[in-house]
Amino acid sequence: MPDFDLSQAALIIVDFQNDFCPGGSLAVPQGDQIYPVVQELVDFFASHDRPIVFTRDYHPVNHISFVKRGGPWPAHCVQGTSGFEFFPQLRIPKTAAHFFKGYLENVDAYSGFEGRLAAEGTITELTLESWLLSHDVQQVYIAGLAADYCVKATALDATLAGFGTTVITNGIKGVNVLPLDSDKALNAMKKHGVNLMEWPVQHG
Ligand SMILES: [Zn+2]
Repeated sequence: MPDFDLSQAALIIVDFQNDFCPGGSLAVPQGDQIYPVVQELVDFFASHDRPIVFTRDYHPVNHISFVKRGGPWPAHCVQGTSGFEFFPQLRIPKTAAHFFKGYLENVDAYSGFEGRLAAEGTITELTLESWLLSHDVQQVYIAGLAADYCVKATALDATLAGFGTTVITNGIKGVNVLPLDSDKALNAMKKHGVNLMEWPVQHG
């Protein structure tokens, strides 16, 4: 296991949802293959009693980002559908915090920092930044989907908010609408001070 100071660290898993995995309506190629790394990250942070955050797209059926509204994407992660649900094998600690984004018809959001805490069946007003600060978090480790959109946006917002930010390179996959989009996203993140780290997989 990596030997580093986790005492002020949190884990953020971005949008590991059925619609972003193969078979989903907005599938990230090989998006399912991040599963072993994501699960090890979740288990590792849980075993160290560190905060774990899951962000998810939670779109109304007529969301502004959808093609039928003139947006760039097919309908995805619609509220109440299986496409919104987590990748099925993912085991989620009960203590994890869940942030929903893109839940208003006319507002899109890529970054988890645009999300709000979802708790006990309602979406609260609490932002991810406030939540992390209230848990004395200063460093965030990020994995999930998609590298060139929501992971990138979340990582850039994390550095802007002043968190030490590390993206786990083998825990992300990109959409690659254009072939080099993921490489460009990694370069942009690096340029803005995001650390890139490969997680040493134990069983994957
Ligand atoms: Zn979306």
